[in-house]
Amino acid sequence: MFQAQTGMLVWSLQTSTLAALLAMLWLHAPSKKHHLFFSCGFAAVGLGSALVAQRGQLSDFVTIVIGNLLALSAFGFWLAGMLRLERRKIEGWIAIPALLWLAVMLLPAVRENMLARVLVYHFCAGIGYITIAGVVMTSKQPITITRKVFAVALVLHALSGGLTAALIIPFNALSGQTLPLTAPVAYSAAFSFVVLMMIAVKMFMEDNERRLHRLAVTDHLTGVLNRRGLMEAFPAVKKAPEHRSSQLMIALFDIDHFKKINDRHGHQCGDEVLVQFCDLVNRIIGGKGTFVRMGGEEFAYLLPHDDITAALRIVDGVRMYFSRLSTDASDESFHSTVSIGVHSMPVSEADLDLMLKMSDRALYAAKSAGRNRTVFNDGLANVVLPAEDRGENPHDNNADRQVAALNRIAAIGSH
Ligand code: GH3
Ligand code: MG
Ligand code: MG
Repeated sequence: MFQAQTGMLVWSLQTSTLAALLAMLWLHAPSKKHHLFFSCGFAAVGLGSALVAQRGQLSDFVTIVIGNLLALSAFGFWLAGMLRLERRKIEGWIAIPALLWLAVMLLPAVRENMLARVLVYHFCAGIGYITIAGVVMTSKQPITITRKVFAVALVLHALSGGLTAALIIPFNALSGQTLPLTAPVAYSAAFSFVVLMMIAVKMFMEDNERRLHRLAVTDHLTGVLNRRGLMEAFPAVKKAPEHRSSQLMIALFDIDHFKKINDRHGHQCGDEVLVQFCDLVNRIIGGKGTFVRMGGEEFAYLLPHDDITAALRIVDGVRMYFSRLSTDASDESFHSTVSIGVHSMPVSEADLDLMLKMSDRALYAAKSAGRNRTVFNDGLANVVLPAEDRGENPHDNNADRQVAALNRIAAIGSH
């Protein structure tokens, strides 16, 4: 025979166990405060249910008002944990389920009516579950299938709790007997809660994996993708349907005399130059293409395009603007330059290793030509891009060699 009181105690034991497990996770890594919030949430349910189960032994005020208040305060803790996990602001509305209960308990007519109390409790809990669903769906994390399933399950759980309470309790109250449905309903509510927990765990695990993966493909100093990020992005860039471009360009950047910068101004100043360089590139490319740190002071930029002249203008713009940036060292400020090697080929034939090899050749030529240069390797030869900031006017009729070079590049672009 199902006994509500025994059920409550078992429930209390289970939630307390979860609270203890989460508390241990928090003790293991105290900076992860969301574990503490989640733990407090389950502890509040555990304690609240234990108090509700003491009906008859303790005063009604403690078992009913305080017990249910504790159980409903769990929503506040869970919501706080979810918001904290995503670095969102924790605001007063997380306490609505608990506060609403407290407010209604001030009305003696409701407080002293068992039927009304149970309905109010389910209404408050329903608001709690639906608020969690709202937080789940407004996350900054991608709204994955698991996330959507979790939100729908939360809303269904909220509705089913309210609905069964609204159907069974009046029946029991009116007929003066206990419907034999009470036990199955309690079991299915518990089962539904366990399912919710399972979906939540899956969702958190997926988010965590995504976070770890992002860390694994991100350069920690500059925040741009690392070499592994490029390896992973390359096949996607080749296949992505939004890239209808016919050509794929890769530009290799290598900061000039970087060793000297480190030697003269210190390693930290060198790091600052790397960060400045990445900020500049990010601003210039504005989200177009894939920019990565290959290692040390070497970077790569992958850009699908249909116009090599326009693509080269972006790349050479980076070179020019970078040479004008100044970095503050302790005693003086200084300028740095970058050499760039570029290669481009039809997207359909693009091969990362080959493209890196060709652009590396161009980069070597840029270093040999005196650094602070962009060299384009068209598959046949290296072409040094003429640059106005070096006093080379590409429109000067006397600069035959440079005009020829530009024309050749433009011709490749219009293939
Ligand atoms: P070049 O103009 O021919 O490219 O000369 P370079 O001095 O820039 O090239 P080299 O490859 O000889 O030196 C690269 C230096 O970059 C050596 C290494 O100590 C330094 N380096 C590598 N990673 C980092 C980093 O994360 N921070 C700093 N500050 N220095 C780094
Ligand atoms: Mg280098
Ligand atoms: Mg270098």
